[in-house]
Amino acid sequence: MLMTDEQKHEFYQALVEKNPQYDGTFFAGIKTTGIFCHATCTARKPKYENCEFFYTAEEALLAGYRPCKRCIPLTYPNSIPEEVDVLVSAVEKQPEKRWKEEDFRKLGIHSATARRKFKKLYGMTFVQYARSRRMGLAFKEISNGKKVIDQQVNFGYESSSAFNDAFTKMMGDPPKKAQVNILHANFISTPIGRMISLSDATHVYLLEFMDRRGLEREIETMRKKHHARILFGETKVHQQLAEELALYFEKKLTQFTVPLSLHGTPFQMKVWDLLLHIPAGETRSYRDLALMLGDPHLVRAVGNANGANQMAIIVPCHRVIQTSGELGGYGGGVERKKFLLQLEQRV
Ligand SMILES: [Zn+2]
Repeated sequence: MLMTDEQKHEFYQALVEKNPQYDGTFFAGIKTTGIFCHATCTARKPKYENCEFFYTAEEALLAGYRPCKRCIPLTYPNSIPEEVDVLVSAVEKQPEKRWKEEDFRKLGIHSATARRKFKKLYGMTFVQYARSRRMGLAFKEISNGKKVIDQQVNFGYESSSAFNDAFTKMMGDPPKKAQVNILHANFISTPIGRMISLSDATHVYLLEFMDRRGLEREIETMRKKHHARILFGETKVHQQLAEELALYFEKKLTQFTVPLSLHGTPFQMKVWDLLLHIPAGETRSYRDLALMLGDPHLVRAVGNANGANQMAIIVPCHRVIQTSGELGGYGGGVERKKFLLQLEQRV
């Protein structure tokens, strides 16, 4: 998951040489065109500074890139079954659409075979593909929104009417209410992947890895709960969050002080509070937490509350492991859990 500069240069070299040995090991996003390619793509090779490199196609999609038509980066070797091509083209025609079962039927694709083929070629399900593409576009639009905001601020406008809420476009308006709140989205690069934060002027509402499954639903729920529009913006709280995270990854900080706005059921709030009291460098089992709450039968409920945490790293759900000592699951992927626990061990 970590990609060093050295690694990026190696990938760039492979891209320039069209080295077939690298096909499938990385994907190159081309900033100037917005597409991503295989190493062997025959398209003209971009400058190093215009390339971004990804280990998986999903990451490239989440960063807002679409697959190259020339090298078809998701297929290996370069041939694509027709029914799969139909699915990909359908997504490109309406990248903002949320795909449902009946849509497959409309496209004339309802066979499990087509979907199996898709999964085999792309390493992800069609729904996952469409979702990653859609999320990537939303994130990109939020980032682009920054330019609009900068401009408006320069001209002295306060109104947000012209600001682009990418999520409104994709998910519809939040429920009508007299007052609409603004949550500012921003991105933070960490050694284990990009994260998205949502914050207002005083609190952080969400911190998640951008490739986390279910992130879209999380953001949607949050928008509705807070009657919020989501705009790109850097708040003071976000700055503090980014600084504290940087120190955390440098092993210079274990206790976060950035103000959090946590919203869960009373039970979830209880569990999250317990998580906040597990010191860095230590772990607890789901059973430990259930016992602390006074009922060993709560193990599963504790696990669910743990999974519902929306403040990755800061509310340290990664410090909860299985009773057997095995790591157990993690919303951001078990590799990250391992990384975080090892990092904290060495503080
Ligand atoms: Zn290409």
